[in-house]
Amino acid sequence: MPLVTMRQLLDEAAKGGYGVGAFNVNNMEQIQAIMEAAKETNSPVIIQASRGARQYAQDRYLYHLMLAAAELYPEIPIAMHQDHGNSFETCKSAIELGFTSVMMDGSLKTDGKTPTDFEENVEVTRRVVDFAHERGVTVEGEIGVLGGIEDGHGAGGTGLEHVTDPDQAVEFAERTGVDALAIAIGTSHGAYKFSKKPDGSVLKMDILIEIHKRLPKTHLVMHGSSSVPKDLQAIINQYGGHLKETWGVPVEEIQLGIRNGVRKINVDTDNRLAITGAIRKVFAETPEKFDPRDYMKPARDAMKKLVAERMTQFGQAGHAGDYEQKSVEAMAQGYRDGSLSTQPLVAGR
Ligand SMILES: [Zn+2]
Repeated sequence: MPLVTMRQLLDEAAKGGYGVGAFNVNNMEQIQAIMEAAKETNSPVIIQASRGARQYAQDRYLYHLMLAAAELYPEIPIAMHQDHGNSFETCKSAIELGFTSVMMDGSLKTDGKTPTDFEENVEVTRRVVDFAHERGVTVEGEIGVLGGIEDGHGAGGTGLEHVTDPDQAVEFAERTGVDALAIAIGTSHGAYKFSKKPDGSVLKMDILIEIHKRLPKTHLVMHGSSSVPKDLQAIINQYGGHLKETWGVPVEEIQLGIRNGVRKINVDTDNRLAITGAIRKVFAETPEKFDPRDYMKPARDAMKKLVAERMTQFGQAGHAGDYEQKSVEAMAQGYRDGSLSTQPLVAGR
């Protein structure tokens, strides 16, 4: 069973009115945790790898782990997505490796830190869209800049410094033809998103709702959307960790987003917390243990539990078998004949 494209998963999610979690992976146990959660909840899956993950795991290992997942769970549609590609070359290499979806984050320069200007972002994203769609591969773009830094990627600061302008979002989507669009509405990467439970002054759900009204066919993406649950923070601190008190994005805000065009929700930090808490617990309670399986297995179980919970909360649970999986060739044909256009009003593209 080959991998499916993210565009197909998100189109189906839009039809069904649900969101799909996109979970980051670096290693075998994380992929296993996601697949077991998907099997248990009967969910379609987006697995994503950042540039840092590709470096850590090496491309060939990652790719073959993904193929193993597709082989072991043929009933589950799986899209493999490049998270935060920083250049045309990164996205091209992901596509050549077999990823079925890429994010071209043209909101930052290739250093992954310095914000670009609008025209620069349009140009590089459009170039990736042309290359990817010819091959049936999905593209996510970003307009506005997220806060925080993760894996060395990010502009830093709070999420409110470069909130997306809805007019720019519309022009960006029209000129690039992206399938999915990440917008900045106050969220940040990493564990430290908010210093109190976020309200409308720091989490701009009204902007998201306006963008969806004006771009109903472009799937919206929420980045930095871990909820950073208190119980996971507490386990880490109870067993010798040291996390400062922090707040993430409440699940009910994500659900409000899903009712307003959000189809992909990126979750990484919550899984990192779940894994680290489980490992710390084993180390603290049974310091005599030294077989890595003694702590990797509880870590994998903790991540599986969290992923299954998010799949249920996002609404993707129960939807794995809703549709026939389309090949990248079929998707490429759809882009060529215009049936996959997100821009019905624009002639000449
Ligand atoms: Zn992100």
